[in-house]
Amino acid sequence: MANTGNAGIGVIGGSGFYSFLDDVTEVRVDTPYGAPSDSLFLGGIGGRRVAFLPRHGRGHHLPPHRINYRANLWALRSVGVRQVLGPCAVGGLRPEYGPGTLLVPDQLVDRTKNRASTYFDGLPLPGGDVPNVVHVPLADPYCPVGRAAAVAAARGRGWEAVDGGTLVVVEGPRFSTRAESLWHRAQGGSVVGMTGHPEAALARELELCYTSLTLVTDLDAGAESGEGVSHEEVLRVFAANVDRLRSVLFDAVAALPEDGARDCLCAKALGGTDPGFALP
Ligand SMILES: [Zn+2]
Repeated sequence: MANTGNAGIGVIGGSGFYSFLDDVTEVRVDTPYGAPSDSLFLGGIGGRRVAFLPRHGRGHHLPPHRINYRANLWALRSVGVRQVLGPCAVGGLRPEYGPGTLLVPDQLVDRTKNRASTYFDGLPLPGGDVPNVVHVPLADPYCPVGRAAAVAAARGRGWEAVDGGTLVVVEGPRFSTRAESLWHRAQGGSVVGMTGHPEAALARELELCYTSLTLVTDLDAGAESGEGVSHEEVLRVFAANVDRLRSVLFDAVAALPEDGARDCLCAKALGGTDPGFALP
């Protein structure tokens, strides 16, 4: 589908975040990188237009390493999205970040192994455009404005979010060994997940604001002494927190700058460099 330009904010997360909204419109979008994880679901929150994208597809059939991250961010931008909120489930690497902790990271460590992580790979797009060699800055991978909105929204709901921390992203789909978990913690990691990269990096390459909201669903193997993480436990804790996480997301959406009013560095990440292709 062509650029419909009618949603300024994107939320990458499952149906628990939009299924009860009135007037949700399903839009199928294709991209030069193939199909995104699912249709986009466009709805209104507090007067803002929001595009929801189920990261793992409806029914949660896509494992983290099979998600077409490039298509997902491209599709969101093609419907007018400029600011993205990316909630995700993570494991706590420190005992103080137990299940139910909401941490809004300010740093990221990429420990993935085999993902298409850039639009600037030098390969021609189907239309014939060839990306230029571009190196975007990622020293601070998350939007400072979005982070502040997320932390304030959580506090406004009585949920004392952890403001800052390092999200370690592993390839998955398996969970970490105890030694890996201890190593991530010793290297300064706060929480560990499987989807935070390359989402933030790709968003930066498209000059999108990106904010990660991580919900701790379990203590990672190195931070607890039991059997380690189970998928059932992750799903149970996520379900127990999805209502208040949705409230926080919607409050954050309402607090984000209006379209066209962004003055953060994310909006100028390319610094005027010609990417070699038209941004969607
Ligand atoms: Zn920004």
